Amino acid sequence: SRVFWVGGNWKMNGTTAAIKDLVASFNTAATAPAVEVVVGVPYVYIPLVADSLRKDWAVAGENCYVKASGAFTGEISPEMLKDVGAAWVILGHSERRNTIGESDKFVAEKVVKALEAGLKVVLCVGELLEQREAGTTQAVVNRQLDAVVKAVGVADWANIVIAYEPVWAIGTGKVASPEQAQEVHAAIREYLKGAVSADVAANTRITYGGSVSAANCQELAQKSDVDGFLVGGASLKPEFITIVNAND
Ligand code: 13P
Repeated sequence: SRVFWVGGNWKMNGTTAAIKDLVASFNTAATAPAVEVVVGVPYVYIPLVADSLRKDWAVAGENCYVKASGAFTGEISPEMLKDVGAAWVILGHSERRNTIGESDKFVAEKVVKALEAGLKVVLCVGELLEQREAGTTQAVVNRQLDAVVKAVGVADWANIVIAYEPVWAIGTGKVASPEQAQEVHAAIREYLKGAVSADVAANTRITYGGSVSAANCQELAQKSDVDGFLVGGASLKPEFITIVNAND
């Protein structure tokens, strides 16, 4: 019942010329019928991609602020993302949590404001290597989720996709094993059951991110609680199509 979901996260990459080429290659690719595809695009290229990308795929912003408008120099509101053609926003990515310094609480506030503006949300969670080695993976992920549950409540989960992205797997080529991913995904589902509802636990897509490639996606997709992927590096290449079709 959970439709397979694959997101690309271009991060801070691309030029007008390169993006035009990439979109053209995606637009002519054959994809599985039962997959939802979302592409995360740097703010400045969203209008270009929203106008030119195939209409069965959607566009995501990679961040947003918590206000609709006002004196917040350099920030972009969820309303603005929607206005230029994004239907989704990626929030809580580890690069924003760990490199930019966003707190669990700030991420949760962003989730609330994005949902209120009518965007769908890709909520990223995940542990650092030292946290995994210390055995605190689930505690860290639950703490990140707790902040969002507290802020969002029990409604609106139909518009949230969770991306479990272990930080040690992001951009490192060290993909989580299917068993490692399944273990955390199952625990997240169990967490949702207790913290939100059995219904939300059963219906929320929990996707995996971190060094996903054409070579490893099929094995991961076979796990019962892996409902798709959030793809970084490989989403900038034609290889992304193989990952989109991983569950076919
Ligand atoms: P990579 O696929 O490049 O490891 O990045 C994963 C990621 O951060 C997606 O949000």
